[in-house]
Amino acid sequence: METKKKDIRALTKEQLRDFFVAHGDKAFRGNQVYEWLWQKSAHSFEGMTNLSKATREMLEANFVINHIRVDQMQRSSDGTIKNAVRLHDGLVVESVLIPTSSRTTACVSSQVGCSLDCRFCATARLKRMRNLNPDEIYDQVVAIDNESRLYFDRPLSNIVFMGMGEPLMNYNNVLKAIEKITSPEGLAMSPKRITVSTSGVPKMIRKMADDGVKFKLAVSLHSAIDEIRTTIMPFNATFTLADLREALQYWYDKTKSRITYEYVVWKGINDTQKDVDALVRFCRFAPSKVNLIEYNPIDDGEFLQAPDSAIDRYVDTLERNGITVTVRRSRGKDIDAACGQLANKQ
Ligand code: SAH
Repeated sequence: METKKKDIRALTKEQLRDFFVAHGDKAFRGNQVYEWLWQKSAHSFEGMTNLSKATREMLEANFVINHIRVDQMQRSSDGTIKNAVRLHDGLVVESVLIPTSSRTTACVSSQVGCSLDCRFCATARLKRMRNLNPDEIYDQVVAIDNESRLYFDRPLSNIVFMGMGEPLMNYNNVLKAIEKITSPEGLAMSPKRITVSTSGVPKMIRKMADDGVKFKLAVSLHSAIDEIRTTIMPFNATFTLADLREALQYWYDKTKSRITYEYVVWKGINDTQKDVDALVRFCRFAPSKVNLIEYNPIDDGEFLQAPDSAIDRYVDTLERNGITVTVRRSRGKDIDAACGQLANKQ
């Protein structure tokens, strides 16, 4: 009878060390394997050249190394790169490399599909198929780091969890992936260069604050008026703005880390002075910054980017009230790599 082999990368370093001790070897062997798996991104046991043949065969008999594969890489005219990433079970997620003159940012996925129902987002139409494992998130970052070195001659500098999925609905795995990314045994990146973007799950925002995480938080707000937010992000009926604000207040009190709000201004939806004033009031309770992001159409024209005059109104009012605001242009639109466009078109 064939027993199902375990994914070796689901094991912690301690568990690997224990495994070797249980098999009559030295615990130190676990460190060596761990290094192969996480620092050297080994794809096979055979390639672990400082282990004896017998040890490699023993690992082979007990484990598999599940690895992602970049199936397709597309490059945009603006330098943005999109990877279609195939997982060990055949499902596909996407991740994006966004280069600017001063940094390269990886935009990674946390779930296959998404369980939320934001009406303006292409990923929402896929439904949630499964959560990504920590190693699957980590591998996307490694793949992009390699591409950054290859095409732009510099390592990856920042990571945003703004790809497919809601990171706080897969919190434990996202946290484990970030631990690997920031650990000296992984990529040794500073958590200050990592941003987790959420549509706003109050309970999980509190948990993050309690866990004392060091990465940054971004919230996809899009409206500070409940009726409007519920129309475009229906889960807002359950996680209301009042709950969200309380959770964010808690986050700020505990972490003293500024909150970024992501916000798209749509024609006829949230483009009036009343909408701007509500946003200003929402921003008051803690130091925050607003990123006005450009809308990336996903098809039927139900949502339309508001004209520049509406954006100017937001910028003027926010600035007058002392709130930092940036207007961000989209990148990678020609290859469907921009925010909200990730939906496995191939
Ligand atoms: N679920 C997380 C992260 C993924 S979405 C979140 O909601 O934050 C990443 C960002 O893209 C969010 O701010 C989201 O609101 C925004 N977004 C989604 N669809 C978009 C679209 N069509 N155009 C522009 N931004 C979009």
